[in-house]
Amino acid sequence: MECPTCRKVYQLKIQYDQNAQIFDWPICFECKECGDILEFTYGQKGLRPVGIDYKPQQGEPPVTTLGYSSSLPITDEVYLKELNDTESMVLYSIFFNLQRGHFTSEEIHAFDIFLRQMQENFLPYRGVMKALLPIMVKGNTAAFSKKWAGLFDIKKYKPIETARKMKEGFYELVEKSYLNIIPSAYYKNCYQRYVQPLFEYIKSSSFEDVKSLKERLDESGKISLWYKDTALPYVVDRLNDIQKIIPSMIYASAGVSDVQQRGDLKIVTISYKEAISCYVRGYEILIKGLKTIVGVNNLVENGNIDTFTNPKLGGITSITKFAELTGGKMIEHLENYVTINSFLDGALNNKVRNAAEHEGIRYDATNQHITCHYDTKDDSKVYELSLIALCKMCYIQLLHIIEITLLARKIVEKAQ
Ligand SMILES: [Zn+2]
Repeated sequence: MECPTCRKVYQLKIQYDQNAQIFDWPICFECKECGDILEFTYGQKGLRPVGIDYKPQQGEPPVTTLGYSSSLPITDEVYLKELNDTESMVLYSIFFNLQRGHFTSEEIHAFDIFLRQMQENFLPYRGVMKALLPIMVKGNTAAFSKKWAGLFDIKKYKPIETARKMKEGFYELVEKSYLNIIPSAYYKNCYQRYVQPLFEYIKSSSFEDVKSLKERLDESGKISLWYKDTALPYVVDRLNDIQKIIPSMIYASAGVSDVQQRGDLKIVTISYKEAISCYVRGYEILIKGLKTIVGVNNLVENGNIDTFTNPKLGGITSITKFAELTGGKMIEHLENYVTINSFLDGALNNKVRNAAEHEGIRYDATNQHITCHYDTKDDSKVYELSLIALCKMCYIQLLHIIEITLLARKIVEKAQ
């Protein structure tokens, strides 16, 4: 295919999988020659827009080749490399490439099982919540009920009659979506270990205790407003666009926290620009939701909402004072709080956020490396990461924002 702007020719090597036949998948990369962001879709009808296909002839000089998979990371040897026909045939199995020093065949197999489950139970419905949210906010139960039946293609349905049932139905969808976008390793390593005990705590607490917990959390801004006005619009957007970050989910599936450990991998389903804006938005929302998870965890771990484990900063004598800190200070304060830190799993990286805020990020599209100059006073201070690592952070942010949304809602519901 050709870059529509500068006419540079690219050869696309697509890893064919069962997904490709069912959905349209995003292809996104930056043109090596002119820097334009090239976006295509690949699916049932082949590559679109149509007419951009390019097939190299045997014996032609090397062509810039892009390996593509809708759900797996791409290894360096097929990321925008000059390959001739034979080389590109030899190097093109993305599946095989990944097994050479990046992931074991067991890990890839486990990820494949997760992908199949997501493909069946979630991907066809990924846009449903985005379509329903504005109607729920408007509070029109009849319209909600009708739209719901249409989206799920239900012929005979029991109409949703009360606002309560409508909300319950919506949050159930969010919860089901969540369960379908987390791999089993994440379920074991994070959900069961850090999140479930908080839900159990709320469940087993008395009405009075939950009511007072809610009042304490609300001192620094109502938690119900956080999830209704801030978290939910973000969550439905991200779920609708989930296909853009699927290749980055393999780390959570393999139980890998540090992306770098598994070598220099690429992602070709999202642009850097979109990934960074997704990260910054997720960061701000998660920071504002943090007090809920930290407050409840303080209660579970220390029996007091205001008692932090191994607090770093002095003078933070209450959850309210904590909630008033800047994001950077919150993260600093929690540095030695093992439970919370393990839960966060690097999803709140202040250096990346600061650099983005001050336009201190350099992105190199030829290797997908991101350099963050996070200190405006000292340009030599840099933090480096890859695009796929950034996407993994966006993914973990999304999971945490959903978890806190569901937890905060449980608190609000029980305190009524
Ligand atoms: Zn170009």
